[in-house]
Amino acid sequence: MKVAIFSTKPYEREYLDRFNINNRHQLIYFDASLNADTTNLAAGFEAVCVFVSDKIDAKAIEKLSNAATQPQAVKLIVLRSAGFNNVDIKAAAEHHIKVVRVPAYSPQAVAEHAVALILTLNRKTHKAYNRVREGNFSVENLMGFNLYGKTVGVIGTGNIGTAFCQIMLGFGCNVIAYDIKESSALKEKGVEYRAFDEVLCAADIISLHCPLTPDTHYLFDSAAFSQMKKGAMLINTGRGALIKTADAIDSLKNGELGYLGIDVYEQEENLFFNDLSESIIQDDVIERLMSFHNVLITPHQGFFTKEALDQIAITTIKNISDFEDGLPLENEVTIEKIK
Ligand code: NAD
Repeated sequence: MKVAIFSTKPYEREYLDRFNINNRHQLIYFDASLNADTTNLAAGFEAVCVFVSDKIDAKAIEKLSNAATQPQAVKLIVLRSAGFNNVDIKAAAEHHIKVVRVPAYSPQAVAEHAVALILTLNRKTHKAYNRVREGNFSVENLMGFNLYGKTVGVIGTGNIGTAFCQIMLGFGCNVIAYDIKESSALKEKGVEYRAFDEVLCAADIISLHCPLTPDTHYLFDSAAFSQMKKGAMLINTGRGALIKTADAIDSLKNGELGYLGIDVYEQEENLFFNDLSESIIQDDVIERLMSFHNVLITPHQGFFTKEALDQIAITTIKNISDFEDGLPLENEVTIEKIK
């Protein structure tokens, strides 16, 4: 099958090529991202393969499906991610385009990155590293706190949230959680489910592992920040718009929010995955965030481990092959599944 693969970097191409056994599929790589303005790049392809930085909204889908303007109407959207908030699933269904994703590639990769953000913000190893390299061995302002005995709140206890809970239980934390579906396996391990507001009030650290949906959009706004413990830490490796960034900035300025660690950002499309070190950043909001000493930003690298890239490539190729072979699509995202 001929597949247009968007927003690819050389490191990813290597993995996809390796698992495209006997070059079964014709994989054509594009650096460009796919959105309503770039759909012409998909002309002649039956399938497009996209990542989190691609925006497949209703307008893009209409153009992709239009056989009158495209030599070949697109019939399959293959996500190389677990999250699918960047694809209009309803519009895809209306245009008879199937959408498949990689539901669980390595939940530990993202969970461990969330822990890396916590430890770095808390113990300030990034600051110590720079300090020591300059011959400054002072510990002034490097004081952290013990994780042992602290209360950690987890929002969303699916694949990644479960892996995260297990790590935090290992640190000796009290783990409380909010999810619309409770996991009995986690309860048996000692995780206590509470109402959302109760998690906000009780947690010293909150980590977000739910998908971005209309229900979770701006879940953390000024109202939520005002209920959190003063000085608490918020970690987001989920999706940027789970947090209303403007409100987070206010909360950091007035000291309500003690630490913020984010691997995702609501306006990340034009920033993340690009080297902008020689450019003038036009996004004043992220510039303000970067100016706080108690904010740590990473560029959506939670998924970025060798094990996760292996699994993403294996599942992506399988999803394409299953579609071509007319087999049931076990990783299909349907409207029913997102309700
Ligand atoms: P998952 O589907 O296994 O789990 C999501 C959990 O969130 C489920 O238990 C679900 O019941 C719960 N949930 C849904 N709506 C909710 C709500 N309104 N309130 C509370 N909980 C709710 O997904 P996952 O594999 O654990 O991934 C979680 C999210 O992590 C993805 O949707 C994606 O946005 C993000 N992610 C980020 C990276 C990264 O590199 N930073 C990588 C992969 C996934």
